[in-house]
Amino acid sequence: MDSQEIVEKCRSIYEDMEFSYISEWKEKTGGNAIGIMPIYFPKEVIHAAGVLPVEVFGGGDMVDVVKGDSYYQSYICHIVRTMVDLGLSGKLDSLSGMICPFTCDVVRNFTGVWGLLFPDKYARFFDQPQNFDREIGGEYLASQLRDIIGFLETIGEKVTDERLNNSIELYNENRRLIRKLYDMRAEKPWQAKTEEVYLLMRAGCILEVSEYNQMLNDYMDSVVNLDRKQLDNIRVVISGSFCEQPPLTLIRIFELAGCYVVDDDYILGNRYLDKEVAVGDDPLGALVQGYLDSEVPSSCRFEEYNAKCKKLAKVVERRKAEGVIFAAPSFCDPALEDEPDYDKELADMDVRVMSLQYSEDTRQFNLIREQIGTFSDSIKLSEA
Ligand code: SF4
Repeated sequence: MDSQEIVEKCRSIYEDMEFSYISEWKEKTGGNAIGIMPIYFPKEVIHAAGVLPVEVFGGGDMVDVVKGDSYYQSYICHIVRTMVDLGLSGKLDSLSGMICPFTCDVVRNFTGVWGLLFPDKYARFFDQPQNFDREIGGEYLASQLRDIIGFLETIGEKVTDERLNNSIELYNENRRLIRKLYDMRAEKPWQAKTEEVYLLMRAGCILEVSEYNQMLNDYMDSVVNLDRKQLDNIRVVISGSFCEQPPLTLIRIFELAGCYVVDDDYILGNRYLDKEVAVGDDPLGALVQGYLDSEVPSSCRFEEYNAKCKKLAKVVERRKAEGVIFAAPSFCDPALEDEPDYDKELADMDVRVMSLQYSEDTRQFNLIREQIGTFSDSIKLSEA
């Protein structure tokens, strides 16, 4: 397949709210599948059990909320509402359960709601430690993973060190390829368009990792040969979109309004581990260490604010970005609480910042497009 065929395949996976890939995969392999909410869970332990990990990001603007609103108050984000509607309409029946990593209290409560709605299925709150000492937070994380592996083995295979090492190798390769793709886009953002990169990332939320690795390789091999024109766009980093995802139209609009996205935090879980995970005698320990050592800026990691700001500043510098757009879901406490500190750090670096809020089902973009266009123009004019 060439890059455009791959993008269209990814688009159809993204739009498929029946999640037919899961049923097809289960029929082909005889295995089970389990859902993961954003942001990060080590998919290696699921893969090692022969179970398909599926990252679910709600229904976006493709699912109308019918029942979800009655489970949540009006002043919280949208993703959990479409999750409830997806669940109640049977579209996620092919999953044996849902793992809900800690992002905020909304997700903590969602785990309970999910467990009450689907008592016959597994619903697990995955409480990622906020202590990064190996003996304390590391041990706590390992104990949680052992517990979850215990469940996975009831619906899949025994998770031996050999199987876990094999899965780590596949996901190491996956992270290498994603880093390569992000580097490629940062170097020539007109060549690997952000909408295409995003659709590829979304496909990776469901595809089996070997199949996905092949797809990433094929896309990169093909897209470099396209004759695409460079536009006079500024270079921006998007921050704040790590959980509830922006509608695809908004992702497209950033570019159309004059901004090349040279880094982002969409679907952050696939690159949350930024270093190679060691293969060896203690694969579970290596995954734990990968989490503890991550240098990826994340609003769901409660380290000192200064450390988080420095991490974002490093991304901005490395990508030679001229501006940062804080694009956060409405009512997203973790993203919105960090924003003032990021603002200050970036102001000290003389990097321009704009902020906007969205909901996964936002459908009116005229005003947002004008704001982004003005932001882009103001940077161009200041550099002229
Ligand atoms: S979008 Fe923000 S507030 Fe909503 S569940 Fe995700 S992290 Fe929590």
